[in-house]
Amino acid sequence: MFKAGDAKKNMYFKTDAEIELLRQSCLLVCKVLAQVGRTLKPGMTGRQLDTAAEALIRDHGAVPAFKGYRDFPDTLCISINEQVVHGIPSDYEFRDGDVVSVDCGTILNGFVGDAAYTFAIGNVKPATMELLHVTNTSLYKGIEQAVHGKRIGDIGWAIQTYCEKVHPYGVVRDLVGHGVGKDLHEDPEVPNHGKRGSGVFLRDGLVIAIEPMVNLGTKDVRQAADNWTIITRDNKPSAHYEHSVAIRKGKADILSDHKMIEEAIKNNPELMQISIKS
Ligand code: MG
Ligand code: MG
Repeated sequence: MFKAGDAKKNMYFKTDAEIELLRQSCLLVCKVLAQVGRTLKPGMTGRQLDTAAEALIRDHGAVPAFKGYRDFPDTLCISINEQVVHGIPSDYEFRDGDVVSVDCGTILNGFVGDAAYTFAIGNVKPATMELLHVTNTSLYKGIEQAVHGKRIGDIGWAIQTYCEKVHPYGVVRDLVGHGVGKDLHEDPEVPNHGKRGSGVFLRDGLVIAIEPMVNLGTKDVRQAADNWTIITRDNKPSAHYEHSVAIRKGKADILSDHKMIEEAIKNNPELMQISIKS
């Protein structure tokens, strides 16, 4: 995630070999998120998750992509309840009923992996679980549009339309997905709202991080005093799911793997599973 309109790198199209390297980096990210899914429980802290995440990444000969990026201090972004994204790991002890969005980036063999998942601890309110389910499903609605010949606006249109269909959810506008490759944030921006048939054409070799950030209430957000954490204006909860996706042979090739994470959640009695079917 990054702020819409931020400085950016040039858009470039990857070779098949580069896409495979990106896949390896994305799979490492998901391994880290699966570790979060295995260990997360009430009483644990974000700092503990972060320390373990950094160790796992370095064990694989990779480096955390977020640490030091524009002076972000840590390996994971951990955003709790009304925090949307960019939360800094802290000594706060997670509680029953918290929803915890964890975003991770790695650099492996020179290529950046990027994925995120929102976890639900213990007894989370049904309305919040529904937000998680809808946000996660909207990610796949966006991915369906990530095929040769469609445009960036088709992705945001699909996500927004799905999220707003039944519920008065706020689809965040101020932060967007992005191209990903040798740099964490490349062109193009990938908004989670938009008009069909607008924006740049999608074609083979483009790799993008698609990452709906959706709020239970207003779409409006503010930045906390730490100059990082993004929070909903009405303090209602928010959800965030992210895949890195290559357009390859005309189709969407999902480079990250949430199944690893979902398997870990299924085996962790402290966490609630979101309904995966759409
Ligand atoms: Mg991202
Ligand atoms: Mg991310």
